[in-house]
Amino acid sequence: MKVLIAEDDMTSRLLLGSILKKWEFTPVLACNGKEAWDVMQSEDAPRLVILDWQMPEMSGIEVCKKIRKIETSDPPYLIVLTSRDEKKDIVKALDAGANDFISKPYDNEELQARINVGKRMIELQSALGDAYKALQHKAMHDPLTSIYNRRAVMELLEKEIARAKREKTALCVGMCDIDFFKKVNDTYGHPVGDEVLITFTQFIINQLRNNDYLGRYGGEEFLIVAPGAKASNHATMFERICKHIRENKIPTEKGNLSITVSIGVAPYTGVENSDMLLAAADTAMYDAKEAGRDRVVYA
Ligand code: GH3
Ligand code: MG
Ligand code: MG
Ligand code: MG
Repeated sequence: MKVLIAEDDMTSRLLLGSILKKWEFTPVLACNGKEAWDVMQSEDAPRLVILDWQMPEMSGIEVCKKIRKIETSDPPYLIVLTSRDEKKDIVKALDAGANDFISKPYDNEELQARINVGKRMIELQSALGDAYKALQHKAMHDPLTSIYNRRAVMELLEKEIARAKREKTALCVGMCDIDFFKKVNDTYGHPVGDEVLITFTQFIINQLRNNDYLGRYGGEEFLIVAPGAKASNHATMFERICKHIRENKIPTEKGNLSITVSIGVAPYTGVENSDMLLAAADTAMYDAKEAGRDRVVYA
């Protein structure tokens, strides 16, 4: 773990650096507050920081205050190390955002114990952050296909409608429903149906542009949100998807299967809300079914 040591006195700085190395940390040295602040703004900045109080350019307390103004989900652990030891100084350092305060001359064992507290806090914080991200991902994704779930794709649709309205750009939604999917389940079993759903979504993702979204709207119904291009480009993309599904067999444990998809497309014209767009796409999708399936119908 990297530890920033900000200390203007060269002897103290080097000594602390070598002690930390012995304790298997990676010291990063700064010889004044300004340098420390620069390091903390860099990418991959140390998460554990030891700051001397009195330094030229910027004091350790100022550095603390500046660091605490950075908005981050991984705030660093700050230890102020100083020859000041009055109660009011300790309070001042903690108020400035320091996590801990150690008076010089420090005792090596105490310093090591306090640095290890910081290390544990950072590790705990990282673990919590990872767990939070994992939960967030779970809340937004469909467990079978790993694409966005209905709630997530609806949120994205709302955002894209707001953006299209604001920036007066194009937006299209495509409701895709696999044709005769029940037959796949009935003939080959539910697990093969699941395999088909997974590969089907991969086929579609490969045909999408970078800014398009695909979400699972229901069982074998998928919603494509395609922002920001001309309607003619959208049409080409939906036709390409339909053709790609028709022409590429899906490998399953029961052999290669052919499926087709019916797609209903509805464009945003500057006035619709999400319910209106979905209703229009749904109607177009049912029209595609009526007209013989395996096709794209535009609302
Ligand atoms: P249509 O062409 O009219 O859309 O016919 P269809 O058979 O695709 O439509 P229907 O609505 O009758 O059947 C949809 C089927 O999708 C029924 C349901 O069991 C299946 N299904 C929904 N979710 C899943 C899933 O997660 N896994 C599997 N294997 N099947 C699913
Ligand atoms: Mg100093
Ligand atoms: Mg359906
Ligand atoms: Mg279907």
